[in-house]
Amino acid sequence: MADTSWTVHIDQSLLSEARERARLENQDLDQVVQRLLQEWLSSPAATPRAPAELPAGLQVEYIQSPHYEERPPDTRIWAIVIHATANDSMNGVIDWFTDPQSLVSAHYNVGKDGRVVQMVREEQRAWHAGKSQWKGVESVNDFSVGIELVNRNDGVDPYPQEQYQVCLKLCKYLVDKYGIEPEDIVSHRAISLTGKTDPAGFDMDRLRRDVAAG
Ligand SMILES: [Zn+2]
Repeated sequence: MADTSWTVHIDQSLLSEARERARLENQDLDQVVQRLLQEWLSSPAATPRAPAELPAGLQVEYIQSPHYEERPPDTRIWAIVIHATANDSMNGVIDWFTDPQSLVSAHYNVGKDGRVVQMVREEQRAWHAGKSQWKGVESVNDFSVGIELVNRNDGVDPYPQEQYQVCLKLCKYLVDKYGIEPEDIVSHRAISLTGKTDPAGFDMDRLRRDVAAG
């Protein structure tokens, strides 16, 4: 797809590992980095893959988060969870979702300027919902796609038009692809069993209405 760009960012942990190996094996750092990079890129888990189709005009970068796993067998994707990142910047979110310690991730992040960064493949289970329940079914990560909106989550910080429109496009794309009902586009707040409040100040009813309008 001509209008889709893909970027791979190498995790800091790879560089640390390379430094350590170069030191232990008394080898040239560049060569060790190259070797580790090849190993990393050829491992199935780390190989980014483009979604089969994307809404026209939507640019998506792919940066793999290490925090994901396979969905339970025969799981159908039937919900979308909307989050706010509770921070100010896309780069901060990317750093957090690639930090080996964070143990959190989402499928998509949408910046205030409409920039989209995918971090987990849709068919895999990202770690965004935590302890959660929707329509009586627990562990919403199993059957949902998580979308993070860059926003401070203070109820005052706005969600600009560029961000809203891209979020809407992304939701329409997912709804069409998986047959998701608009009512199953939910806030993290609505499903959280641990008192999450995001996305504060975001109009979920408007999003569901706009998705339903097609
Ligand atoms: Zn959340």
